[in-house]
Amino acid sequence: MRIAMVSEHASPLAVLGGVDAGGQNVHVAELSAALVRRGHEVTVFTRRDDAELPDRVTMPSGVDVVHVTAGPAEHVPKDELLPFVPALADGLERAWLAARPDVVHGHFWMSGVAAVDAARRPAVRDARGGRAIPVVQTFHALGHVKRRHQGTLDTSPAERAELEPQVGRSADTVIATCSDEVFELRSIGVAADRIDVAPCGVDSGLFTPEGPRESRGRPTRIATVGRLVARKGHGTAISALARLVDEGRDVELLVVGGPPRDQLAGDETYRALSALAEELGVRDRVDFRGQVAQPELPTVLRSLDALVCAPWYEPFGIVPLEAMACGVPVVAASVGGLIDTVVDGVTGRLVPPRDPEAVASALATMLDAPEATRQLGREGRRRARSRYSWDRIAAGTSASYRSTIARSTAEARRQLATTKGASL
Ligand code: UDP
Repeated sequence: MRIAMVSEHASPLAVLGGVDAGGQNVHVAELSAALVRRGHEVTVFTRRDDAELPDRVTMPSGVDVVHVTAGPAEHVPKDELLPFVPALADGLERAWLAARPDVVHGHFWMSGVAAVDAARRPAVRDARGGRAIPVVQTFHALGHVKRRHQGTLDTSPAERAELEPQVGRSADTVIATCSDEVFELRSIGVAADRIDVAPCGVDSGLFTPEGPRESRGRPTRIATVGRLVARKGHGTAISALARLVDEGRDVELLVVGGPPRDQLAGDETYRALSALAEELGVRDRVDFRGQVAQPELPTVLRSLDALVCAPWYEPFGIVPLEAMACGVPVVAASVGGLIDTVVDGVTGRLVPPRDPEAVASALATMLDAPEATRQLGREGRRRARSRYSWDRIAAGTSASYRSTIARSTAEARRQLATTKGASL
């Protein structure tokens, strides 16, 4: 198949860990690479955010990345990108007239808006005998869920409330990354028979239990990894640390993510978290690492007794899988994708969200039973490898593409039969 991915703000070439660069970038890069390994041709279309970027780059994986000019050629926060979506759709239309994809896969709602628009434009239809290009959509995050949890802190444009469900209802197929998302998609009117599920995966060649590990500063080490945004719940991990220390445990906490370490001082969330640690009397036990390059992350993860992953909500959450793949048990908030990936009592512990007490208590139980905890790590490794390899996910996704193409061809034929049949 010739597959066109659209990932407006999340380029597979981006450096991870910044405010807008995380799981989606990894997802698009890894899924595309795995699809190329299966013999497909994959081009990722992303917005040009730097004037120096070439029009087309071929990644070592064989995936082509095309930079489409849409808005200023500089970083623009994703919540300010909507005005440039029509220009992105223009660029997609031009590209898809030149090299026709069999299927289009939009990532995040704005890419979906552009993908649906371009795939159905008259010129694109004409070039395909009157048929639009089938569109598959993965949202990665849903506006109404974000609004529910973040309220007025949500900086998404107001139009998202209308456009996102529209994309969901008009895409040929929507791929949910977890079972929780299926229910959320149903609630915005996406038909059940148009929803497929394909989770995010983990690079279990990079994230392994064997390999170098950092030395620790204290006998017990835990970490929280993710972009430095409030909803990732790093504050819950800091509060849980304070409780463990109050119990007399000698623990340190790594906070990984955010801008590079030397730029942390300029980050508002960092300052708030640092002040919290100060207030709780544990600032000397919290090591804010800032952004850590992904190839370095396994070295950090292997040094942990446990990973804390305590977001308020989480559309999927690749980080706990990365820890599991390294054989590290996870204490996770039972929200979103974490409900599917972390099996309570088997690969880690699930606790209520925004509950430092519950996180501390789950950690304490783990620390007091090292053999049982090692077993959680081993089971986590098994689960990550067996269920979440990108090759397996690419197999599921390409099956979804194939059934989408078949359905859309059948629908187009039916439509033609009705209109032509009625006029002759
Ligand atoms: N990541 C990284 N360095 C960092 C912080 C995060 O490489 O300093 C990577 C991490 O390994 C994971 C991704 O960024 O692959 C974050 O994905 P996740 O789904 O957990 O969260 P998101 O950022 O999508 O909300």
